[in-house]
Amino acid sequence: MSSSPKTVAEVLKAGADYLAKHGVDAPQVACELLLGRLLHCRRLDVHTRHDQVLDEKRLEAMRRGINRVAAGEPAQYVTGETEFMGRAYKTDKRALIPRPETELLVEEALGCAPLWQKPQPAVLDWGTGAGCVAISLALARPGGLYLALDTSADALALARENSARHGLENKIGFSDSEVSDLLEAESMDAIAANPPYVPTAEWEKLPRHIRDHEPRAALDGGPTGLAVIESVIQDAALTLRLGGFLFLEIGHQQGAAVTWLLASNGFSDAQVKKDMAGHDRIVTATLAGPG
Ligand code: GLN
Repeated sequence: MSSSPKTVAEVLKAGADYLAKHGVDAPQVACELLLGRLLHCRRLDVHTRHDQVLDEKRLEAMRRGINRVAAGEPAQYVTGETEFMGRAYKTDKRALIPRPETELLVEEALGCAPLWQKPQPAVLDWGTGAGCVAISLALARPGGLYLALDTSADALALARENSARHGLENKIGFSDSEVSDLLEAESMDAIAANPPYVPTAEWEKLPRHIRDHEPRAALDGGPTGLAVIESVIQDAALTLRLGGFLFLEIGHQQGAAVTWLLASNGFSDAQVKKDMAGHDRIVTATLAGPG
């Protein structure tokens, strides 16, 4: 980036042009994220400050950030923060960057009235990553009992830091155990999961800021993308109480396959919801009771 731009508007333009030249996806968004961090404001509020002049320290920090993003790092790892459901989460290479489509998963769970009518519903966040699903649910529905699992110790450490940041240290249990080792059968009222679901061949073609930087274990769902989803559904069938709820984030073409997997594992009422782009994204289902 040239050293001449000084105002927010000039830095945005020069930075986005530089990132575009380096083949970065969504260069404008990346610059907004970096500037938002430097100006302590939300990404889009950067545009209400176009005429603000950046001091030399911030310009230098911006140059360093732009260079890291140009070299392929995701902007959210450079800033160390991501917004999810209006709250800030610490974000680094220990876990997948929280994504807007996962907000739909949380919204589906929050909208499940019969779940929250129970006195102390037990809710499991399977594969919690940075912790944002469990934390969002626990903040919105403090009467629940929450458990968050991840096989990655790094991700769990980050999730714990995020839960402390949101004042939930003692509210969410974190564990790296497998569901089957940890939970009694029929002990949970709901399970929410954003498992890895990208087919390996698609993972290989993801933009480099995702493929080369975010944890592969959080993205790659095996040859069909369904390997981990299938095992989550099998675990859920054992762990949920009859009538319990499963909320799953899935890949954009997996609605039919996941509906079939759910039916063959004893779930009923499977519903596939679309994301903002019109793709299959969230599936909800109930573990069928007897008869
Ligand atoms: N939505 C993510 C992506 O496309 C995938 C998340 C996941 O596999 N759980 O990068």
